[in-house]
Amino acid sequence: MDFRRTVLVTGASRGIGAACATKLAAQGWDVAVNFARDEASATRVAEAVRAQGRRALVLRADVGDEAATLAMFARIDAEWGPLGGLVNNAGIVDMQSRLEDMETARWRRMLDVNVVGTLLCAREAVRRMSTRRGGRGGAIVNLSSAAAVLGGPGLYVDYAASKGAIDSFTTGLGREVAADGIRVNAVRPGIIDTEIHAASGDPNRAASAAGVVPMKRPGTAMECANAVAWLLSDEASYVTGTVVTVSGGR
Ligand code: NAP
Repeated sequence: MDFRRTVLVTGASRGIGAACATKLAAQGWDVAVNFARDEASATRVAEAVRAQGRRALVLRADVGDEAATLAMFARIDAEWGPLGGLVNNAGIVDMQSRLEDMETARWRRMLDVNVVGTLLCAREAVRRMSTRRGGRGGAIVNLSSAAAVLGGPGLYVDYAASKGAIDSFTTGLGREVAADGIRVNAVRPGIIDTEIHAASGDPNRAASAAGVVPMKRPGTAMECANAVAWLLSDEASYVTGTVVTVSGGR
C-alpha cells in the first residue's frame, strides 16, 4: 500500500468536502469520508470514490467530540495504516445575527467544531505523519473562509472569528512542522454554492450575493476542491503555512 495516498476528508458527505473526496479519488487517493449526521450522503460519496478505482471508508464522527474523533483515527489506523493527507473541511455556520443577539452556547458549538475539531484532527494527523515521531510525512489542508478577512459584520462575526483562528493556526502549524515532513496550508473560499447557507437562514445566498463578487458569480465546490487537491499534491511541495484564496476576486 502507498501510505502517501490515503487521505481523511472531514465533513465529506456534501458540499466542498464531497467535491474534495471525488477530486482526490480522481488523483489516486484512497479517501476516508467523514460525516456527522447524513450517512446516506456519505455512502454515496464513498461509492463515487470507489467508482474511480480507489478505496473508501465511511466514518461517522462529530469532530467536536474528541472521543468519537479519536475512534475515527483509530479505525483508519487499523484499516489503512498511517495517513498521508488530511482535509480539515468540516465546519458550521449559524443564523445570521448581530453579536448582541447571540447566545454563548452558539459560540461554544461553533468554536468546538470549526476550531477545536480542526486542531484535534491536525494533532492526530501530525502524530502519525511527523518524521520527528517516526512517521513518513504528509500534507494537511484546512478550510478557512473569506469571512476571516471580511469579518462577517451583521451576519456571523463568531463564524468569521473561528475562521480567523484557522488562518493563524495554518501559519503557525505550517512553520512548526515544516522540518518534520508535513506541509500545512489552507484554502479560503468566498461565496460558494453549497447547502451551508441554509444554516445561516439564507439558502439562496450563493445566488443573491453574487453581485458583490468581482466575477459576478458564486464559486463551485469543485473550484475549491481543485485548490485543496493541488495543495495536497507533490506539485505544491515547496508550499506551506499559507492560504490560497478561492473567491472570484472578493
Ligand atoms: P456544507 O455544505 O454545510 O457541508 C458541511 C459538511 O460538514 C457536511 O458533510 C456535514 O455532514 C459536515 N459536518 C458538519 N458538522 C460536522 C461535524 N461536527 N463533524 C463532522 N462533520 C460535520 O458546507 P460547505 O459549504 O461545503 O463548507 C465546507 C467548509 O468550507 C466549511 O469549513 C465552511 O466553513 C467552509 N466555507 C464554505 C463557504 C461557502 O460559501 N460554502 C465559504 C467559506 C468557507 P453531516 O451533515 O453529515 O454532518
